[in-house]
Amino acid sequence: MAETVTNWAGNITYTAKEVWRPRTVDELRALLPGCERTVRVLGSGHSFNTVADPGPEGVLLSLAGLPAEIDVDTAARTVRVGGGVRYAELARRVHAHGLALGNMASLPHISVAGSVATGTHGSGVTNGSLASAVREVEVLMADGRRGRIGPDDHRYGGAVTSLGALGVVVALTLELEPAYEVEQHVFTELPLDVLDEETFETVMAAAYSVSLFTDWRAPGFRQVWLKRRTDQPLPDFPWAAPATEKKHPVPGMPAVNCTEQFGVPGPWHERLPHFRPDHVPSSGAELQSEYLMAREHAVPALRALDALRESLAPVVQTCEVRTVAADEQWLSPAYGRDSVAVHFTWVADTAAVLPVVRRVEAALDAFAPRPHWGKVFTTPPRTLRERYPRLWDFGQLIRPADPSGMFTNAFLREMLGL
Ligand SMILES: Cc1cc2nc3c(=O)[nH]c(=O)nc-3n(C[C@H](O)[C@H](O)[C@H](O)COP(=O)(O)OP(=O)(O)OC[C@H]3O[C@@H](n4cnc5c(N)ncnc54)[C@H](O)[C@@H]3O)c2cc1C
Repeated sequence: MAETVTNWAGNITYTAKEVWRPRTVDELRALLPGCERTVRVLGSGHSFNTVADPGPEGVLLSLAGLPAEIDVDTAARTVRVGGGVRYAELARRVHAHGLALGNMASLPHISVAGSVATGTHGSGVTNGSLASAVREVEVLMADGRRGRIGPDDHRYGGAVTSLGALGVVVALTLELEPAYEVEQHVFTELPLDVLDEETFETVMAAAYSVSLFTDWRAPGFRQVWLKRRTDQPLPDFPWAAPATEKKHPVPGMPAVNCTEQFGVPGPWHERLPHFRPDHVPSSGAELQSEYLMAREHAVPALRALDALRESLAPVVQTCEVRTVAADEQWLSPAYGRDSVAVHFTWVADTAAVLPVVRRVEAALDAFAPRPHWGKVFTTPPRTLRERYPRLWDFGQLIRPADPSGMFTNAFLREMLGL
């Protein structure tokens, strides 16, 4: 490939023979039938592994040049969004119509199609992954045909969180609700000791979206972020002290990169993400890993990680604990289980991080963790496959749609046996 394309973090340089940047869906549709190369769509490149890499003989397909379609249907309370659009732009347009998404991830910089393809999520005991909002997927299959798949279609369970294996998602229709306001309240120093199973549930349900952050340098959590919808009750939060200054989840990073705190109410899309769209999200120099487990394992899992503090502290920038409601996407890490998600923002040093990733996976193994598809993990493929009970169904969906395996890369072959 003449040009060098990397992911956002810079730890992956995509290997591809060529990069396609079609300007229209018709132009794209004409390129697919008969193509003998592996084709992988690159969203906004915020994954930390080779999930989007087509391999050295393949095609990296960017949808950034397609018209950024965002069509809001106020009567139906839905939005149809093009395959290359990012959440920041989508959220602004939806809000301008007095409507809202039910949840967002920690940053609005990521593409909608790429996010739902990997099971990306925010937090909230009643909030499913971002894929739960999808009402229809429009996908260009290997033969160039456009499939429309909605919840009544038997293929729906594999069509949203599809890791790009089904085809090129050219549009998604998402469910909306009336716009709402959110206040963000930050607390400091929540001891781990106070978290028995019941208290953990109460803490995580104290607001619409709750995140706990720790650097594992000392016991317990350095910060608790509560995102309260103003149409829901004001929580009592006796377990930690209110912050006295604005905070960034990564110690030492400027709080100006973060969305407004101190309980100032604001539109949903300016509070649900932690990071502002026009600022650097997270630390900017990092790797990430994340594991989702059934929520009943949250407290023992956190205690198992506490026992690893000495290994974690040198390589963790921040660790975030969130909750995700069960969803119905077969490959979603939250499939069929109300989940706790434990995320790690590591230092940007693969050699130093990988041994600790393995220790984390060993410590959590008893809780059957499912790794985030877009982040760094070393879970053996056999173990991974055991954790997805509908994997066989996914294979049955993919093979007839893509008999030559045009959309299957080395990552999917290794991890899923596709
Ligand atoms: C700073 C930072 C913060 C993050 N915060 C969160 C968080 O809060 N919660 C969370 O769950 N994750 C989080 N992530 C992970 C991120 O959400 C996922 O990696 C997500 O996949 C990113 O979307 P993307 O478009 O950048 O995907 P890419 O990395 O570009 O692609 C991911 C996958 O989607 C496929 N794909 C993309 N677009 C299409 C399409 N149109 N059609 C078919 N396949 C497609 C690609 O082929 C690939 O397999 C974060 C990542 C970063 C860097």
